[in-house]
Amino acid sequence: MSKEYIIPIFIPHGGCKKRCAFCNEYSATGIKEKPDTDDLEIIYKEYKGYFKKNKKPYIAFYGSTFTGLENTIMEYYLEWANSKYINKEIEGIRFSTSPEEITQEKINILKKYPVNLVEIGVQSFYNDVLALSNRSHNTEDIWNACVLMKNNGIEFGLHLMTGLPGSSYMKDINSALLLTFSGASYARIHPTVVLKNTLLEREKYIPETIEKSVKKTAVMKMILELNKIHVIRTGICLYGDEINNVVSGPYSESFGDLVNTFIYSEIIKTNEKNSLKFPKNKKGIVYGYKKKNCEIIKEYGVSFTDSEEIFLNNQKTHTEFFYPKIIEKYI
Ligand code: SF4
Repeated sequence: MSKEYIIPIFIPHGGCKKRCAFCNEYSATGIKEKPDTDDLEIIYKEYKGYFKKNKKPYIAFYGSTFTGLENTIMEYYLEWANSKYINKEIEGIRFSTSPEEITQEKINILKKYPVNLVEIGVQSFYNDVLALSNRSHNTEDIWNACVLMKNNGIEFGLHLMTGLPGSSYMKDINSALLLTFSGASYARIHPTVVLKNTLLEREKYIPETIEKSVKKTAVMKMILELNKIHVIRTGICLYGDEINNVVSGPYSESFGDLVNTFIYSEIIKTNEKNSLKFPKNKKGIVYGYKKKNCEIIKEYGVSFTDSEEIFLNNQKTHTEFFYPKIIEKYI
């Protein structure tokens, strides 16, 4: 997949009918107001300056329930982004939203604009977890939204969270399994982290440990990838000083690397010694975060080859081949 360039525009809590227990977009982004045209232009120019001249970015509206905004406000943002599209400056428009705010009426508006990807915050496929997390949707809303997106031919991705109030190891794993039936083309997974000024902080919520979270997220990632759903990110994304808003929980800037490190250590451990060869250009990911897999690599006699392929007992194979055995071990 070629690198994509994103200009993120945060509209903190725009269109949100409730405040989710884990969320404080003001804390997460440091932005207090909904951007007006001047703000939009400043953000746009700043990001454009980071990208090479020949790269066309996407404008992405985040931090809100975008389709929950009043239609006039939603169209104000879409019109602004569309003016960049008409000028051939951007590839298209993306946004995040919540399932219950996806209706045919909203989609009819979206269809007037170059919206090419929608990220739907599902978080869990369990109604009790959604209710305890103060989400404004239930599982029926999730399936309705997925059907509407599919019927209208709009590509979408789903966002899952682990370790929410009322959830469990198997509920999180099952959410990943259920996601495979949704028609989504990609997924993001992030663990529940307690941020300042959230309901979770007030309730003194005890989040899961990073060790548990990494293992579970790795299993979820393998389930999704086995079903051809691209996992574009694991781990919560915080910007700059916003890391200081983490009160507790499995936050690491290297969460995604830790997940991959775990997956490769399991791939190695589920095979016989001296049976595995990885491409040299995968050395970094196989050795893992801070070379954590170094000992296992030595112990299992893993070697590296100039070939682009992975070999198991001298037979070409691929990463996903190993996943079912590992998943079986962890569910
Ligand atoms: S819907 Fe999204 S932006 Fe709104 S409160 Fe919930 S997580 Fe935050």
